[in-house]
Formats: sequence, structure tokens, C-alpha cells
Amino acid sequence: MTTALVWLRRDLRLSDHAALATALIRHERVVPAFILDRKILDPLPRNDRRIPFILDCLAQIKEDLQAQGSDLVVRVGDPREEIPRLARQYAVRCVYANRDYEPVAIARDQTVAQQLADDGIDWQDCKDQVIFERDEILTQAGGPFSVFTPYWRRWRARLSQIDSAEYPIAPYRQRLATLPSESLPSPAELGFEPEAGARTIVAGMRGGATLLDEFAERLAHYQVLRDFPGKKGVSYLGPHLRFGTVSIRALVRLALRDDSPGAECWLKELCWREFYQQLLWHRPDLVEHTFRPEFDHLPFSNNLDWFAAWCSGQTGYPLVDAGMRQLNQTGYMHNRLRMITASFLVKDLLIDWRWGERYFAQQLLDYDLASNNGGWQWAASVGCDAQPWFRIFNPVTQSERFDPAGHFIRRYCPELNALPASAIHAPWLAKPLELAAAQVKLGTDIPLPIVDHASQRSQALALFKAAAEQRQKS
Ligand SMILES: Cc1cc2nc3c(=O)[nH]c(=O)nc-3n(C[C@H](O)[C@H](O)[C@H](O)COP(=O)(O)OP(=O)(O)OC[C@H]3O[C@@H](n4cnc5c(N)ncnc54)[C@H](O)[C@@H]3O)c2cc1C
Repeated sequence: MTTALVWLRRDLRLSDHAALATALIRHERVVPAFILDRKILDPLPRNDRRIPFILDCLAQIKEDLQAQGSDLVVRVGDPREEIPRLARQYAVRCVYANRDYEPVAIARDQTVAQQLADDGIDWQDCKDQVIFERDEILTQAGGPFSVFTPYWRRWRARLSQIDSAEYPIAPYRQRLATLPSESLPSPAELGFEPEAGARTIVAGMRGGATLLDEFAERLAHYQVLRDFPGKKGVSYLGPHLRFGTVSIRALVRLALRDDSPGAECWLKELCWREFYQQLLWHRPDLVEHTFRPEFDHLPFSNNLDWFAAWCSGQTGYPLVDAGMRQLNQTGYMHNRLRMITASFLVKDLLIDWRWGERYFAQQLLDYDLASNNGGWQWAASVGCDAQPWFRIFNPVTQSERFDPAGHFIRRYCPELNALPASAIHAPWLAKPLELAAAQVKLGTDIPLPIVDHASQRSQALALFKAAAEQRQKS
């Protein structure tokens, strides 16, 4: 009888799971394990909202496994030591894991595989997180795509039912090792604070399944509603994709079954995720550097007060502030607002995009290195974007277009609640009578705009133009 260990990482579910299914098919006894990595946990702020989220995901897995006499083995420490230790303890033939494409994770897995090899234990990694990985989608010339639209066309043309087929778990469940039940450490035992406030996105496999079922009902309208943060248009599945509590193949199966314009549009968004994953895999240097080298060292002014105002949602631009407050309060921000707030930080406040990238990384429940880095480089016009650098979002016209009645602004900036829609996007332009009727005092109840969009826009254009010209000369 051979035993295998399945190391769960960003795939916190027990269905349609490549590594788990492969191990169950090949071995008679399978031990599932998760390592709370001290190297990742220790630098995090003590109130990091991802810790309770992850623990809730693990609790659901444990509950399901314990119900059938098995368990999820959880250890706290360095996986480079803990995984080989567990492999020896359970006398396993092979350790299985789903592939992770982040540079640090690739290096970690290489070390683990080497340690296991030294003990005569095999290492097997599987594709699970994406439909197409690494160099499966290449240009005619055999290189990686750096523009999304041709990547999407190739991705879509290659996609068949087989690519999204489900990995079977249920027929092999009896092979899950019988294990004594162990309890899970609490946030406090790990040195973290309990979660403050109510979570808007329910964790775990069950949370993911509920969201997916709800979203399936409105998928057909996705392309119409997805750009309006005040409407329930998007799926809110970001954290579930990040932690793998839903399977990407299940999402793709849903989109292919639905076969509506909304489903096709959503499929394209799922493809953006894979575009950034493959980009980071081909270009790990993007973690530190811009895709467009001419913009790697733009002389940003990096005003600390303005950065603090942006972080706390106090810039005086209502939609920007509402977006940042949504992020701070819930750990989620709508995609349209990620684009607007990111553009505002770089092109209105002239602050290095890396500062914003870092702030999002601390706050987002769905933080993902590849998508966050790709999104920030895109919004800052320093990355993979078919659009030129002189595209600059106007925070007021974006607000009028994507939150016309101000529903979203009112939710996160209640101090503006009584303003009419005509005044809510730029209250500093409202008539004194309108402000008085809404009992809004500019500069007291809400900040005056910390910068003037038109003049900051000119400065941003000059900054980018000088760097682009410098590049042409050299
Ligand atoms: C500056 C900036 C930073 C971002 N940071 C992240 C991040 O850290 N993690 C993250 O998952 N996404 C990031 N995104 C992409 C996108 O904003 C989120 O994926 C999306 O808002 C998540 O909400 P949802 O699940 O409701 O999306 P839906 O619209 O329902 O889309 C479904 C899924 O498709 C994927 N997706 C959609 N749009 C994109 C996109 N533009 N790029 C990559 N994947 C996409 C996501 O996995 C998303 O969950 C960022 C975008 C920008 C502009």
C-alpha cells in the first residue's frame, strides 16, 4: 500500500482538485496537509483580514474530512522543513501539490522537492490554478504574449470542454487516510487579532459555492452591469479564486454552459487573470521593474500627505474616496474603482505606482501578485497595455459615467448623502444653496480636492513625455 501527501496551498477545496485527484487515483492512502508559513505570517499586520479568512477555509476542509474519519494535518512553520518532516512521518512515496507561478513560491517548491529527493521521496506538481499555464499559449514566433487581445483570441480558440473537465474526487474518497482529529489554531494562537466587523465575503468552499450559484443567475447580464460599482454586476469571487475555494474549471464550465454575451465577457475577465499569471511566469523581473523600461525610474514627487489622504479616502474626489473606503472597510474594491483610484494615485498625485501596489497588497482579500502587479502597471501606463501613456482617467467624468446617481458614493461617503446627483461628483463646484440645503460644509465635512485634476494631468503628461523622449534619444 503506498501513501501520498497532498500539500494544499492556494487551492483550499476538496472538489475538482488536480493534485488531490491525482494522488487519490495513484495511491491507496492520501494525507492532506496545510502549512501556516511563518515566513509569510510574521511580517503581516496583526489585524490582517486574510488570516481569519484562511482559517475559516481550513476549518471547512477539516470539518468535511473529519466527517469521514480523516483530517487536514495543519502545521505552523517553514514548509521547507515541515513538508519533508510530514512526508517522513507518514512514510509517503510522493508529495503532490498544485503549481504556483509566483517567483518566491517556485523557489520554495524547488527547495522542498530537493529535500524530498534527498530522502528518496518523489515530488509531483500539477496544473490546477489556471486553464492554460506557463508557455501553453505562445505567439506565432514562440514567445510570450505581451498584449492581451491576441492572447485572449489564442486562449479562446484553444479552449475546449476537455480543458475545463472536472477532476474526480468522490469515487476515491475512501482512500483519504484515517487520521485522529486535531484542532485548528485560532487567530490569537497565531498572534493575530480576531476579525473586526462583519465580513462581506463568506469564506471557504461553501462561501464560494453560494456566491457562484448567485452569480450564475445574473451572469447573462455581466457585460451590461460589470462597470457600475453601485450595482450587483460582478461575481465577487476574487478571494475564492485567490484561495482556490472555487475551481477555475467550474467557473469556465459555467460560462461555456451559459453561452450568453455576459458569459463570454466574464470568460474574458477570467482570461485576464491567466494573462497576468503567464506574464509573471515569463517575466519574474516585473515584480521589481516596469514592463516598459523607459518608465522604470519616473521622477515621482511622492508627497506623503497626499498618499495618506489617498489611503484613507480623503482626497476630496468622492468616487476615489468611496473606492478607497470600500477597500479599507471590506477588503474588496470594484474593478472600475481599482482602475480609477490607481490612475488617480499615479497621474493626479504623481506618486509611484509601487506605493499603491503595496497598499492594495496589504488590504485586498483577493490580493494576487500577478493580477495586482499587472493591474497597477496597466493603470500607471508602465505595463502591458495597447493604450498609450497619455490616457488619463478624469475622476469626475468617470464618476458621472459609472455612478451616475451617486448610489455608490452615498454608501461610502454618507456625509454627501443629501447632495443631488448633479452635485455629488464634484461638490466643490456645487452652488452654495445646494451645499447649504444638504448641510455640507466644504473643507469641514468633506475635504476640498487635494489637487486640481487639470494641472496635475499636465504635470503627469510632461513626466511621461520626458521619459519617453529620453528613451528615444538613447
Ligand atoms: C490596480 C489593480 C489592482 C488589481 N489587483 C488585483 C488583485 O490583487 N487580485 C485580483 O484577483 N485581481 C486584481 N485586479 C483585477 C480585478 O480588479 C479583480 O480581479 C476584480 O475586481 C475582482 O472582483 P470580482 O471577483 O467581482 O471580478 P469579476 O468581474 O467577477 O471577475 C471574475 C474574476 O476574473 C478575474 N479578473 C477580472 N478582471 C481581472 C483583471 N483585470 N485582471 C486580472 N484578473 C481579473 C478575477 O480573478 C476575478 O475574480 C486588479 C485590478 C487593478 C486595476
